[in-house]
Formats: sequence, structure tokens, C-alpha cells
Amino acid sequence: MSTSKEIFLKDYKAPEFFIDKTDLTFDIEAERTIVESKLYMRRNGEHENELVLDGVDLKLLELKIDGRLLNEQEYSVGPKTLSIKTSKNEFVLQVKVKINPKNNFSCEGLYKSGDIFCTQNEAQGFRKITYFLDRPDVMSEFTTTLMARKDLFPILLANGNKIEETENDGVLKVVWHDPHPKPSYLFAVVAGDLAKVEDSFTTKSGRVVKLEIFVDHGNEDKCDHAMLSLKYSMKWDEEKFGLEYDLDIYMIVAVDSFNMGAMENKGLNIFNSAYVLAKKETATDANFAGIEAVIGHEYFHNWTGNRVTCRDWFQLTLKEGLTVFRDQEFSSDMLSRPVKRIDDVVMLRRHQFPEDQGPMSHPIQPKSYIEINNFYTATVYEKGAEVIRMIHTLFGESNFRKGMDLYFKRHDGQAVTTDDFVNAMADASGVSLDHFKMWYHQKGTPRLKVTESYDAENKVFELTFEQHAKIDHDGYDCLHMPFHVGLIDSNGKELPIDGKLELNKKRQSFKFESIESRPVVSYNRGFSAPVILQKNSSEKELIHLMAFDGDTFSRYEAAQELYKSELKRFVSAYQCSSEYDASEAFFSAYGKLLGNKDLEEAYLAYALSLPTVKEIDEDYDVYTIEAAHYARERFAKQISDKFKDQFEKIYNSLERKEFDLSAKSMGERSLRQVCLGYLSLQSDEKFFKLAAAQFDKATNMTEEFSALNSLVNNYPEKSDTYSQRFYDKWMDETLVMQKWYALHSGNSHITLEKLDELTKNKAYDKKVPNLLRSLVGGFSMNNHLRFNDPSGEGYKWIADKIIEIDSYNPQVASRLAKSMNHLKRLDEKRKALLAGELSRILDQKLSDDTYEVVNKNLNG
Ligand SMILES: [Zn+2]
Repeated sequence: MSTSKEIFLKDYKAPEFFIDKTDLTFDIEAERTIVESKLYMRRNGEHENELVLDGVDLKLLELKIDGRLLNEQEYSVGPKTLSIKTSKNEFVLQVKVKINPKNNFSCEGLYKSGDIFCTQNEAQGFRKITYFLDRPDVMSEFTTTLMARKDLFPILLANGNKIEETENDGVLKVVWHDPHPKPSYLFAVVAGDLAKVEDSFTTKSGRVVKLEIFVDHGNEDKCDHAMLSLKYSMKWDEEKFGLEYDLDIYMIVAVDSFNMGAMENKGLNIFNSAYVLAKKETATDANFAGIEAVIGHEYFHNWTGNRVTCRDWFQLTLKEGLTVFRDQEFSSDMLSRPVKRIDDVVMLRRHQFPEDQGPMSHPIQPKSYIEINNFYTATVYEKGAEVIRMIHTLFGESNFRKGMDLYFKRHDGQAVTTDDFVNAMADASGVSLDHFKMWYHQKGTPRLKVTESYDAENKVFELTFEQHAKIDHDGYDCLHMPFHVGLIDSNGKELPIDGKLELNKKRQSFKFESIESRPVVSYNRGFSAPVILQKNSSEKELIHLMAFDGDTFSRYEAAQELYKSELKRFVSAYQCSSEYDASEAFFSAYGKLLGNKDLEEAYLAYALSLPTVKEIDEDYDVYTIEAAHYARERFAKQISDKFKDQFEKIYNSLERKEFDLSAKSMGERSLRQVCLGYLSLQSDEKFFKLAAAQFDKATNMTEEFSALNSLVNNYPEKSDTYSQRFYDKWMDETLVMQKWYALHSGNSHITLEKLDELTKNKAYDKKVPNLLRSLVGGFSMNNHLRFNDPSGEGYKWIADKIIEIDSYNPQVASRLAKSMNHLKRLDEKRKALLAGELSRILDQKLSDDTYEVVNKNLNG
């Protein structure tokens, strides 16, 4: 049960007080920390309201105004607030509190991760450190003094530039000053015994910036990629957006216990170690790419998020959608643009589309929330980035840049809204975005129905679009979006038309003249609009696009659609207990794709892969579960039977001795692993040995782990020794163990007894969110078959875990609870079982985080 209050965007009010300057002193000891603050307060406007500060789990020790101790009649302490009566308009408030980071397992506020103390304050963690106006529109200039015993905490870090460091009687004192006013969510502190890796970067105006990465001792050799990524990011933002770094030092600290990916605290980023630490022996290519993207993302926030921040949390996509767009562009420039686009769309469809069709569906600018932590969603981030990308597509590169320049010019140092951003973009380019703004007020994935007609006599080809979108705003019944198409003739030649369409009516037709014969349409090129397209492409048309489409995204899309139409036939066959064999036309198209030497390897690896079982099921109103699992398994086996010789040939041709992280090498490894995956579906001893040999000889984690993956998933009776060897070798490397846990929890052969056993082994620590996500999240997100077991045991197992985790880490618990969002997609029997477990969770004493999600899952 919960007594939680819903908060609405429409109720926003400007703060009643501002805090112009904040001086903080931390006296850190192992068992407790004393935080003293000196807040330079200023009343906003004419009113007589008392000052209400936010604060949670704090022990108030002392309270002074302008140096005078307050008596108990002058203030009151509530469970989440401190209210102070004063008539002064300007005053200095001094607050002294005691906190205990060691017993704080929520990973919010100041807490302990391993042996170090660190902070996470977005969205509302700062109130667990001291009483404050913990909201993003209160921006303050922070000076931070840290004191601790030097033998225990030789490294003391905070935001900004270091202005003083002294030592007295074994106590180290370090003072940091950040000249840029910022909201409390960007405040950070780190204290502990850490190793430092150093480098530097000279900005385009000649400022030399110290770059420092702090990691646990012994991990210094795993920072090269992160450091290089940081330097590339700094350079890229200068070249692409003219944005320069603004302090003398940029620090990154890697910690093991972290709820998110990373945090952009001003000058002192704190990272989940998964996004810093990597060397080829311990990290896969996907890990390396992830590090580059996240380092870039947090760095880019320095302008889109820190210099210009959000007025309130409903504006979260202002910084996140925009910064995800920026990191996507960065990765596209660093690696392969076509492959990156596919990668991003795959993630969008895998995470955001289901969210947008489920009970947590919300606009990229939500209208209300109970717990803001629940809105760090794929919608706010990834759909938010797609909305920015559409502006980019509508404007073109140069107008987009003009808009960004104006946005920074107008709003540097301010806390603003998504409207402010869109208005700056429109004003700079002269292109109206009034209609486009509806994307911020719209939830659910828009659907676009298209019909084609060809007038052979007049040689006119016509496309008619019909939009279906839920818009929570008067005056509009549809969205404004770019929608790029191409026409391809029967010889595979691209016809010279202007295919950059703009849709802005509920129903809209476009005519193309002088079209000699009926063309095949390549739709939504580059995925120009994040919509679900409803059309009737024939198998023949898809095969034509697979062979000739000049747009790499649409070509990939055609292959995926073809797989899905075959998979549907496998599903139907399973449902009526019959057999199905994939068509000759399919095999012929697949064979041509496999043999195409002109395509990039990374691209081919994507194009040859089948959708996941869950993705297959997303096309059904009621999940088919066993049928989808069977369909994918049988289809993949038929592909493997038919093309095993080609897969083997490609596999052997891609063996490389040397390792590097170029897009080309990563693509080759990726294609090689896809081939191994198909070959491992053969029961033939020869292919088991191939995977085993790769495991034995691997010199990098990409190859070692994909071999283990093939062994565990396809040779269950022989794989135990390999799994054990992997465990024994890597049990002290928590980042590697995460992969191992995820592999087992996602395996369709796993039993719940085995899962419980895994939680008891030595490498597992339930206080480390990454491990919870791998094991518990891996099961509910990636094991569609076992999680949805008809007995309901999978639901019960997850429910037990959520209840337990909620008692110490609500953020992680509520995220795990999001996997139980598919009540409406289940058959009656499963529906009753899942509903029973959701009710059981709701009967417990829950955090706001978990209550909001579970309640929506059950009743939304
Ligand atoms: Zn971010």
C-alpha cells in the first residue's frame, strides 16, 4: 500500500526562495558523516510563506539564521521536509545534519559502493544529504569542503576546480569551487582510496583541461578506451556544435554499485563501472561501443543539461532526448552510420514500443508522476531522441545547428522547458514547429496506414497516408513528421523523385508522375519517423527491396519483414499441430544476402539475424509464447541446415590474429559470431567442437563469451564444464560475471531451482544493481518462455524478488517491476496468475517507486 501523491505538470509554481550560494562542509567518517551547509537564501517575490526545505532520512543537529540558533518554535521537521518561519527576505541559513552513508543501500544521496563513498542525486537524492530546495530550477554556486582521515580516504572529490588541499594531524581537507551555478541534482562528492589515470585535452581556444579517471586499484589498465572516448567526445562537440569545455578539470569515477549507467555531475561524472572499465580480455565489442556512447553522452550533457538545465522534472526529455540524439550522432561518426541507425531502431522497438503500448505509456513530456525515478524511460530518452532527430531531418544540418546556437545563446545558465527549446529551433530556422510540438503531448506509437495506387494509362503513382495518433491537445488530430520514401523499378533502379515527404494531415496523398511501370516503394527511409507502418507488401516486393534498396535501413527492414512473415507461418503451424517449411523464395533471398560481398560485415550480421522470441510475440495481441519460441527455433534450424556450408566458410574466412577496435574488425567479429550461432544449431559433433575450440583459444571476451553462449544454449548436456571454467576464471571480475548471470537467466532451459542456486554463489552480491539486473532482470526481460511459464512459477519468482529488493533499493525494484507490464497481452489463465502476483506485491509496504509501477501494471 502507499500514501503516495501524484504530481502534475499543470501545478508547476516558481520556487518561493532561491539559494544564490551554497557552502557545504562534509566531515566524513566510516560510520557517520556530518554535513554542514551555509545557504545564502533570497525570497522570490513578495509573499510571507515559510521556507520549506526537502530532506529525507536526515538527523538534524543544528539550525541557525544569520548566525543565531533557532528555537524549536521557529521550525518544524516532517518526514520529508523542514519548515522554517522567517520574515527575512535575504538571510544566511546554516544547517547541520548527520547521515549514515554506510547503511544507505538505495544508491541515492551519499552512499557506500565497495569501499568508497559516492553520490547519486538525480533526480531527488540531494535531499538525503542535507535540507535543501531540491528542485532543478533552484541553481546555486557551490563551494564544497571535504574532510576525512587521509589513510582511509586519500581521494576527496567534488564539482568544479580544486582551490585548496591541506593536511593536519592525518586529516585531509580539500576545498572545491564550481563557478557555474547548478541545481542540486548535479552536485557530487566522492571519497575513498582510488587509483588515478591521467591525461589532458586542449580545447580549441587553448584551455588545457586535466582529464582524470578514478578506479579501484588494479583496474588502471582498463581505462584506455574510456579516456580515448572522452577526448574524442570533447573534440567532436567542438567540431559539430562549437561547444567547448568550461572548467580546468574533468573527472570520471567508476563505481560498482550504481543504479543507472552514469551521471553527468558538473566536472565530476560518476559512472557505473560497466561504462568505464574495459580491456579486450574482459569486455565485448558491445561493451566497448557502450563505453564510447555513454562517455560521450555524459560529456555532452555539460551543455545540454548542465549549462542549460530543466525547469522541472516534466522537462526531462529536454536534456535526455537531446543528449541521446547527440550521443547517437557521435557514435555514428565514430563507427558505421548505417549500422548505428539500425542498432538504435532495434533498441527503440525492443524497449520503447512495448512501453508505449503498455500501462506505463506516457508522452515524452509526462503530465504527471508519483515518483519521478519511474520516468527515466525509453520514451523520455529514446523516443525523445527520435523527436529531436525529426527536427534535424525537417531542418537539415545547417538550420539545426543555427537552432542549437540560438538555444544556447538565449538560455545559457537557465533552467528552461521543452517549449523554450522548440521555440529557439523554430525562431533560428524560420520553420514553424507549432504543429510539430504535438509530439510532446502524444503517447502511444503513432500508426500510419498507407495505400498505393498506380494509374498505368497516365503513368501516375499515388501514395495515400492515414494517421492514427493519440494527441492530448486541442486543435490537432494528427502529427507533423518527415517521411522519406523511394521508388524502385522492376530492374532494381532507383527512380528520380523527391521522396522527402512531410506528413501533416490526418489523410494525405502524394502523386508521382511519369512513372513507367508500377514501382516497389521503399518506406520510411532511415526510419525518418518513429511510427508503426501498416501496409501490405508482398513477399516479392520485400525480396526486391532486400536486393536493391539503396537505403540501408529500409533494406534491413525488408529482410526483417520477410522473416516475420515466415515466422507467422511457423507460429500458425505450431498452433494447429502441423509442420511448416520456409519457402524456396525465402531461401533464395537469404542465400543472396549471405553471399553479398558488397555489404559491411556489421550490417550483414544484423540483416542475417532473426527477431527475438519477444519481438515475434509483439506482433500478436495475445502473446503466443510457446508458439513464438518454437517458431524461432525451427526457423533458425532450417536456415542453419540449408546454409551451414556457407556459414562455415564465412566463419573460417573471418578468423583474425590481431585485435583492434576499428568498425571493420568489430563488424567481422560480429558476423563471425552470427555464423557460429547458426552452426551451433547443428547437433553434429563437429560444430560442438568448433564452439569449444573457439572458447579454448579465445584471446578476447567477444569470442570467449559468444562461444560460451553457443555451448550453453545449444549443447546443454555438454556445456557445464565450460560454464564452470568461465566462472572459475572470472569470478572476481564482477563485470564479466554479469554476462555469465545474464546468459544463464536468459537460457530457455533454466529451472527456478538453478536460478536460486546462482544467487547463492560467491560472485553474487544483491547490493550490486548490475548483478540484480543481469540475473533477475535477465530472466524477466530475456527469458520469454520460462518467465511466462504456464504454471505461474516465473511470475511468483520475480514477485518475490521485487518485494525483497524494494526493501533496500526501490529504484531497481521498480525497474524490475516494469517487466510485469503485459497483463493485457496474456491468455486468461496466465492473466489470472500474473494479476495474483501483482496484487500480492501491492499488499506489501512498498516504496512510491514500486507502488506506482505495480499499480499501473495491475490497474492501468
Ligand atoms: Zn543523460
